[in-house]
Order: sequence, then structure tokens, then C-alpha cells
Amino acid sequence: MSLTNKILLGMLLGLLLGVIFNLLLGLDETQTTATTVYGQWIQNVVINGIFDAVGQVFVASLKLLVVPLVFVSLVCGAASLGGHNRMGALATKTVALYLLTTAIAISLAMGVAIFIQPGAGVDMAVSSTYAAPPAPSIKETFINIFPSNPVQAMAEGNMLQVIVFSILLGIAISRTGGEVGSSMKTLFEHLNEVVLKMMMLLMQLAPYGVFCLLAKLFATIGFAAIADLAKYFFTVLFVLLLHGLVVYGSLLKILTGLNPIIFFRKMWKVAVFGFSTASSNATLPVTMRTVEHDLGVDNKVASFSVPLGATINMDGTAIMQGVATIFIAQVYNIDIPASGYLMVILTATLASIGTAGVPSVGLVMLAMVLQSVGLPVEGIALIIGVDRLLDMVRTAVNITGDATVSTIVAKSENMLDKSRFDDMSLNAEVDPV
Ligand code: ASP
Repeated sequence: MSLTNKILLGMLLGLLLGVIFNLLLGLDETQTTATTVYGQWIQNVVINGIFDAVGQVFVASLKLLVVPLVFVSLVCGAASLGGHNRMGALATKTVALYLLTTAIAISLAMGVAIFIQPGAGVDMAVSSTYAAPPAPSIKETFINIFPSNPVQAMAEGNMLQVIVFSILLGIAISRTGGEVGSSMKTLFEHLNEVVLKMMMLLMQLAPYGVFCLLAKLFATIGFAAIADLAKYFFTVLFVLLLHGLVVYGSLLKILTGLNPIIFFRKMWKVAVFGFSTASSNATLPVTMRTVEHDLGVDNKVASFSVPLGATINMDGTAIMQGVATIFIAQVYNIDIPASGYLMVILTATLASIGTAGVPSVGLVMLAMVLQSVGLPVEGIALIIGVDRLLDMVRTAVNITGDATVSTIVAKSENMLDKSRFDDMSLNAEVDPV
């Protein structure tokens, strides 16, 4: 069986076993301990023991690749672009498309939510237990892009700083030129091959990792909370699917003429990684490799656009924030004026830049969006119970957005290998470089 099929099988079995445990043990956010002796054994040894440990090792093995892969691959990309005068255009196009897709996502989310009215008639005991952590200011976010210490940036996994440092180093290598320049470039190309080999090795763990992560999550997820918030939950889910399939599919077709079905079939396994880890950052190695190897995007584009996207492009998160804003306004019976909607689009697009690609951060940034239109931040407490599952789905959308924009930019810059894109037999996880 191919590794991709094994990963899909791991996902299905994990989901299934998790749901069975969930039904048997009745665990959720309110009941955290199983009632029978057998139940407690399963909970302590199997779910919180084996599944949790293997799941965590799997996520660690993915995260471990992030900094080396982005650093080495982006230095290679920037070194070969070097004096290339398309670099500025490439970066501008990428950032503009990331912002545009996020603005579309949030507008779509608010439009659908206004139509469906997920919060109308909802009578919930409004708790005031959610204390919003302070959101970073725009000025701080901007200053933070520039590293003062590259080693610290790497140690902290600060992606934007790693990106800036790698691009500078790449440009410096290409400007150095001569024997030194070319041997440095070769060194990084060789390093890139080695890091990719390491990724192939660690990928063997993926089917088991995905299985354990999902089995543990679904064993402890509160399905009852979903029933209470069904309208909100399914509105977010609907817009996520609409944006992920229809908007990305149409953008791809209209702007590049490429076949969206091929794109989605190749991205499916990456979405599974996003879904099971709920982290764009942890999925980054797989996204990057698939975009480059399977979709045929040139390394010069992919090594820049994918890590940047994993950090600043969060369309799925913006969708949750759009629906949540309307939902909270309706529950509290507060009218948002027309100018307020524009404010939400603007803040949510900016918030998406500041949202780190790790689980649940979208909720924290929602506080900033709510504050921008004077809605009570405590409203977040209403939706927190169903956020875990939505976080998983929106992360899958976030990374699909990164891949879509990378493909569009590459095609427009003549840096996409169409024969690779069309070749369905390519599979990044098993094919060697
Ligand atoms: N978990 C999301 C991601 O990593 C961010 C969020 O919406 O919380 O892409």
C-alpha cells in the first residue's frame, strides 16, 4: 500500500476508534474521567498514554523539520533568484494574493452568516470567563519581522524572521559569486537533499501518528457541545468547504487554466496532515514538498511563498472569525453598522497575518476583531467548546490556500512545470528527490 493510502487509512481508523471510545467512555470537556475501571484503564494507558505519546512524537518529528527545511530551501531559492529582477514582483504578487484571498474568505463568511443568522434566537447563558490575552499591535508585528539574532529566530521558530534571514543570506551568496558563491550554493543544495531525505524517513511515522492524534482527539471531543451550537458550527463548516473547494478551485481555473481536480487530488493528503495536527506550521514540510514536487512549483517560488503563507495566510481562520463575529453580535443583540463590516474585513485580514500557525490561535486573534467593532470579547466563551474540531478543518483550508496562491504565482511567473502538475503518479512522500 502506498504511504498516502496508509495515511488516509490511519485517519479513518483513528476517527472511527476515537468515536467508539467517545461513545463507550462518555468523555468530554465536562466529564474528564471515565467511570468504570476498564474505562479508566483505556483512558490512562491507551488514550492518554500510547496515543498521546505517539501523537506528540509525530508532531515533534514534523516540527523538527520546519526550520531546517525553510532555511535551507529558501537560501537555495534566493541564491538562484539572486539579482533576478522578478524577485520584487514575485513577493508583491504573493503577499497581495494572500491578502486578497483572506478578504474574500471573511466577506464570504459574513455574507453567509448574515443570511443564515446562526445566532438568532440562541439563548445562552453568557459567561464572562474569557479573558482575552493582549493582541500584538501592528507596529510590534512589523518590527518583529526583522531578526536581531538569526539563531534566536531559529530557536524560537519565528518563521517571518527566518524567512528574512534566509532571503538575505541567499542574496548575499549570489552577489558573492565566483568560486565562493557557487560552492556555498552547492553546499546548500546538498543540505537540501539531505533534509529532504530526513523528511522521507520521518514520513514513515505519519500513518501511525495521524491515527493516534485523531483517535485521542475524537475520544475526548464533546459532541454534545456541537449539538448546542449546531447552527454556528455548520455555518463555519459550510463556508470552509465553499471557500476551500469552490473559491480556490475557481481562482485556480480562472487565473491559471490548470485543472482544479488534479490540484485537490494532490493536496488531499496535505489537508489530512493539517486536519490532524491543527497546525499550519507543523504541516509546513509536507505542504512545501507537495507544492514543489507534486504540483511542479519551482523551488524559487515555493520556498518563499509556502512558509510565508503558513505564517500570514489564514483564510480558514478568517472564516471562523467572520461567522463568530456575526454570531456573537446576534446572541448579544448588538447591531453592527455597515462601516463595522468593513472594519471586520480589515481587522480580520490583518489578524490573519498576526495569527501563528499553531492550534487555537485563531480564537485569541478573534478578540482583536471583536474589539474593533465594540463587541464583547467574553462572547468567545460561547464558541470555545466547538472550536477544536473547527480548528482542524480551518487549518486544512489555511494550507490549501497557501498551495493555491503558490501555484497561481508560479504559473504567472512561468515557474510552474505543467507536466509535473498533470502527472498524477508523482508522490512527494515516497519519490526520492
Ligand atoms: N490552527 C490554525 C493554523 O495553524 C490557526 C488557527 O486558526 O488557530 O493554521
